Amino acid sequence: MHVPVLHIILPCYNEEEALPITAKRLTELTDDMLAKGLIAPESRIVMVDDGSKDATWSKISEICGADSRFEGIKLAHNAGHMNALWAGMTLSVDRCDALITIDADLQDDVNAMYGFLEEYGKGADVVYGVRSSRKTDTAFKRNTAQLFYRGMRRMGVDLVYNHADYRLLSQRATRALLSVGEVNKFLRGMVPLLGFKSAKVYYERGVRVAGESKYPLKKMLAFAMDGITSFSNKPIRWVLLTGIIFALLGVVMAVYTLASLISGHSVAGWASIMMSIWLIGGVQLIALGIVGEYVGKIYMETKRRPKFILEEHITNA
Ligand code: UDP
Ligand code: MG
Repeated sequence: MHVPVLHIILPCYNEEEALPITAKRLTELTDDMLAKGLIAPESRIVMVDDGSKDATWSKISEICGADSRFEGIKLAHNAGHMNALWAGMTLSVDRCDALITIDADLQDDVNAMYGFLEEYGKGADVVYGVRSSRKTDTAFKRNTAQLFYRGMRRMGVDLVYNHADYRLLSQRATRALLSVGEVNKFLRGMVPLLGFKSAKVYYERGVRVAGESKYPLKKMLAFAMDGITSFSNKPIRWVLLTGIIFALLGVVMAVYTLASLISGHSVAGWASIMMSIWLIGGVQLIALGIVGEYVGKIYMETKRRPKFILEEHITNA
C-alpha cells in the first residue's frame, strides 16, 4: 500500500504553555507512526501561530529548529481559529497526501489519528473525529454545545454531532474545501457539503495539556452566530412568521381599543396600546437585527478580504 505523506496542522493562539508538551507528544506519535510504516518520512507537523501575543512564535521557531519534522507559520494578526486552519491547509495541501487538523491543546486524543489513517487507507477522503463523551468539558460548555448542535439541525444544517475541527482530509478533499471561495468561517458545516466518502472515529475528549481556553463566551457566541447565518436562512422565515403573528395580534388589539373607545373606556385602553407599541417595537428591532446580520454577511462576501496575511513560513524542506 502507498504510504501517505501526512501533515498535522495545529492552530496556536497564545499557546506558549501547551506547545512544548504538544510538540513532545506529537514527536512520539509520529516516531511511532514512522516506525510502523504508517506515514512517509516527508510528513510534517505544522504549527500556525494565529497572531499570538505571548511567546508562542519563539517556541515554534525553537521547536522547528530542533526537529525538521516541524514547520511554523506565523500570521500577522489574530485571524481566528478557522482562518488559522485555512492558512495551514493552504500552505500544506500541495505537499501532502492527507492532512489532519487538531487543536494545539491536544484535548482531542492524538491516538485517534491511527484510526483516521486506517479509514483513509480504506478510501475515506474525510474522517471525522467524534467525541464519544464530553465528561471533561464544563457543564456550561457541554449544554451550550448540545443546544447549538440541536439548533443547527433544526435549521436544516447538516452537522456531524459532537464533531469539532479534529478531522482528516485527503488532498483532494482539502483542495475542494479551499476552493469554496466564501469568507466562511464555519468549516465543520462546509466539510459535509463537499460530499466525499467519509468515516467517523470516536474518541474521549480530555482536558487541555496546559493553559486556558482561548474561546471565551464572546468568541463562542460569535462562532455560533457565524455558523447559523452562514448556512441557514431559517431565521429570516422565523422573523417573517413572528411578524405575521404580531400583526394579527395588532389587529385584535386595534379592535379591542376601538371597542373601548366607543364604550367610553378609552383611558383604560391606554395601557394596552402602550404595551403593544412596546411589544411590536421590540419585535421590529429583533427582526432588523437578524436582517442586518445577513446584510453584514453579504457585505463581507463582496469585500473578498484575504483570510490571512502571511508573515513568515518555516518549512525545513
Ligand atoms: N485558536 C486560534 N485562534 C483564536 C482562538 C483559538 O488559533 O483566535 C486555537 C487555540 O490555540 C486552540 C484551538 O484554536 O488550538 C481551540 O481553542 P481552545 O482549545 O482554547 O478552545 P476550547 O477547546 O476551549 O473550545
Ligand atoms: Mg481546547
